Amino acid sequence: MEMAHRLMTRLCVEIGSDSDSGKTVKLQLLPSTFEENPAASKGQHLTCFVVDDFIAFDAGSLAMASTSLQKQKVRDIVLSHAHLDHIAGLPLFVDDLFATLTEPVRVYASAEVIEILERNIFNWSVYPRFSELSNGNGSVLKYEAFEPDVEITVAHLSVLPVKVNHKVPSFGFIVSDGTATFALTGDTAATDEFWRVVNETADICTVLIECAFPNELDELAIISHHLTPMRLKNELLKLKRTGCTPYVVNLKPAYREQTIQQIKELGLENLRILEVGRVYEL
Ligand SMILES: [Zn+2]
Repeated sequence: MEMAHRLMTRLCVEIGSDSDSGKTVKLQLLPSTFEENPAASKGQHLTCFVVDDFIAFDAGSLAMASTSLQKQKVRDIVLSHAHLDHIAGLPLFVDDLFATLTEPVRVYASAEVIEILERNIFNWSVYPRFSELSNGNGSVLKYEAFEPDVEITVAHLSVLPVKVNHKVPSFGFIVSDGTATFALTGDTAATDEFWRVVNETADICTVLIECAFPNELDELAIISHHLTPMRLKNELLKLKRTGCTPYVVNLKPAYREQTIQQIKELGLENLRILEVGRVYEL
């Protein structure tokens, strides 16, 4: 806790918002791996953002890197898409909690993603079909299907799923607790609808945007529907909201330093890299 407190940064304060406005959404990109000391390593192999310690956006490292408090509190998980780096921790998370759950873990995802999970992960061969299982308190896993562009309520948050441009059906999200609003692109290549919605959203203070590969791997970025620094710059030209700070996420660990260097060379003053493990306050 002390470590988390020391690392806490107020994003909106940094960009000039009112520090006394009571905006207190906490956002943390969970680590994927740890060093020997054991501090979180900077590399992001897996994707899992935890908001206010009890809502997860994607579940890549949820079982492996969540704190005991987060394990106790997270019961709502919103999935952007079904790629392994975004769901790897989900089966293990439900498994770890199976006996102690007093309410189901609720998974919010598109119907396509739910179908993929049931067919390929929770299929009794790779892992048990938790959606059919109960402990003494009732069901342990429940799905909530969402539709594109239809806002849902997830705990105390409103979440608007917006389709983005990835290799498989994938969503970005506009998220608000009523006082602070932020957006996540999820995995995506060039996209327009997401930016249209962001630009129409009042008081949005932060956008988390992916940039997986360095410019040299442009062909791979095209094939896999990801961004490079060059393509990131084009996307950020679509962001018209002043006072909205973009933070880069989803840097592939093998090219992290190279990609960060190229992002710096873009010369975009307010563009930042989201630090793995750090707790930010919006
Ligand atoms: Zn993906």
